[in-house]
Amino acid sequence: GPAALALLGPAPGAPCCPHGPALLFVKTSQGTEEGRRFYACSACRDRKDCNFFQWEDEKVSEARLAAREEYNRSQQPCFTHRQNVDRYKNFVLLQLSKRRFCQECQQLLLPAEWKKHSDHQFLCDITTAQLKTPSQLLYPLENKKTNAQYLFTDRSCQFLLNLLTDLGFRRVLSVGTPRLHEMIQSKAAQEEEFNVRSLLLDIDFRYSQFYTEDEFCHYNMFNHHFFGGEAARETCRKFLCEENGERVIMVTDPPFGGLVEALASSFKKLMAMWRETEKEGHDKREMPMFWIFPYFFESRILDFFPSFSMMDYQVDYDNHALYKHGKTGRRQSPVRIFTNLTPSMIVLPEEEGYRFCTVCQRYVSSGNQHCEICNSCTSKDGRRWKHCVLCKKCVKPSWFHCDNCKCCTLQKHSCEKTDSGCFVCGKAGHKRSACPSLSRS
Ligand code: SAH
Ligand code: ZN
Ligand code: ZN
Ligand code: ZN
Ligand code: ZN
Repeated sequence: GPAALALLGPAPGAPCCPHGPALLFVKTSQGTEEGRRFYACSACRDRKDCNFFQWEDEKVSEARLAAREEYNRSQQPCFTHRQNVDRYKNFVLLQLSKRRFCQECQQLLLPAEWKKHSDHQFLCDITTAQLKTPSQLLYPLENKKTNAQYLFTDRSCQFLLNLLTDLGFRRVLSVGTPRLHEMIQSKAAQEEEFNVRSLLLDIDFRYSQFYTEDEFCHYNMFNHHFFGGEAARETCRKFLCEENGERVIMVTDPPFGGLVEALASSFKKLMAMWRETEKEGHDKREMPMFWIFPYFFESRILDFFPSFSMMDYQVDYDNHALYKHGKTGRRQSPVRIFTNLTPSMIVLPEEEGYRFCTVCQRYVSSGNQHCEICNSCTSKDGRRWKHCVLCKKCVKPSWFHCDNCKCCTLQKHSCEKTDSGCFVCGKAGHKRSACPSLSRS
């Protein structure tokens, strides 16, 4: 029968790959109750990026363990964060004509290193402005399965920043949001009255060239691993202390390749870190959070964070052809903000087509009609959805009720096809490429 892969999560005593502790998975095949368990890399879903694999019950020899440790060391970046901070200090002292950035190595070069990179492409005259916007200097790591670096448009980034400053937050834990971090840092440097601080946690070590240890931690959000060890963990913990009443919010925009349970487990650990910073008063509260993710993961996210709700705001990206803002005839972005803040506080811009629903007490897309039967604004994608009395819920406008399947679905589908669930929505009957959640407008 068809095989399925399930994540069992972070396990105590898990072996390490270059990306920190591996995660425990189980491969189940239909008909068998128990599948065999194995460890695989937490960060890389493409074997080409990290091929770590070990059966849970596998005996690993001392020699192989030593070789593995040696290999893990060899895979670490050639400069430490500290070294990169020192290099940066020297770099900014150089006159403009001597400031080079190697595009192949994605590295700021000091004059003594030019020779070593002589046959590489490089950029010259790196300005201070460029150093302040590293997300534009570095090329986005777009390989889908691992980094999936999709950068916010200026519009979306500005919206997020205004939103969280209007809500009174003064500290932002930016987990996988380098562009938001960079916007906060630049504004803080330029405007005296702007007093928001940000700490970036990201697996992309290239950012350590531009930020100090207090501004950036090399971090893996799939296993809550701080590459910088206890010192980096302490930096994060300190940042989460709300000294002088400076309120903290965490903003995260993880790669969409599944593993929601791994992300949720790490985010709960970050929330616990926040809770533990306060002696009293935090007991029942949760660290405020924006989790930016596609709407078709709504039920998965709510499974782990029942206090969250999904906002209608469409987050869009510069380098993602599919995820651009609607209204101009382009495709609509499926990416939304999930938050544990009270929905009515999340004010969405009317000039971009959002309105306030007084019944739902939240801002919704203008096309999102309040359904009297569901008693809620039910559309997930901004288009007007229609109520199906048989399914007892609202469905996409393009769907129809199939009497065979006893549910609403796409016109074109094969009835009762039950293979393993779709990668995106988890439902049976279709493959990821045909997932109705991804259907186009
Ligand atoms: N929209 C955001 C970027 C989101 S792209 C912005 O414009 O700021 C996803 C981000 O998560 C990237 O910065 C990527 O480097 C980071 N990332 C990918 N895998 C990660 C992991 N395992 N741990 C931590 N960060 C990761
Ligand atoms: Zn790995
Ligand atoms: Zn409503
Ligand atoms: Zn309805
Ligand atoms: Zn129906």
